[in-house]
Amino acid sequence: MSLLRKIRETGRVAEDAPPRPAPAAPPAARRLAGSVQVRCVDAGSCNGCEIEIAAAFGPVYDAERYGARLVASPRHADVALVTGPVTRNMAEPLRRTVAAMPRPRLVMAVGDCALNCGEFAGGHGVEGAVTDVVPVDLRIEGCPPGPERIVAALRAVTGR
Ligand code: SF4
Repeated sequence: MSLLRKIRETGRVAEDAPPRPAPAAPPAARRLAGSVQVRCVDAGSCNGCEIEIAAAFGPVYDAERYGARLVASPRHADVALVTGPVTRNMAEPLRRTVAAMPRPRLVMAVGDCALNCGEFAGGHGVEGAVTDVVPVDLRIEGCPPGPERIVAALRAVTGR
């Protein structure tokens, strides 16, 4: 009973929802409106972007309330959130992950490293940016992009 009382007294801890962003441009995004299942792929990041993604799905930014849910298998996923420059070792796993996702599907490149290799450009183990390996539909800039940007991009897809 004390737990129930505490829950009632605390109320909602999430931030108030910001205004709804404009819908995403790719046609697949319109077909995915409502809710999306999201698979994260770290293709070689420093983990900074992963921390922001974790915050985006945490209790404060709470991406799930806009219809985005993390899943463990690409076979269940509509959206791939890809971080980091793509290392040589991760190029083929990334291709296979995206190929395993059912259509319609979207690939979001998260962070400057995913967009243009960022700090790691020219590194020996770097294959290239995400778009050099798989087609990219949406881009989220920043090093790292804050949770609010990640949530806004997901909301642009779900339309909520
Ligand atoms: S964009 Fe910045 S935070 Fe993200 S993986 Fe690259 S260096 Fe790390």
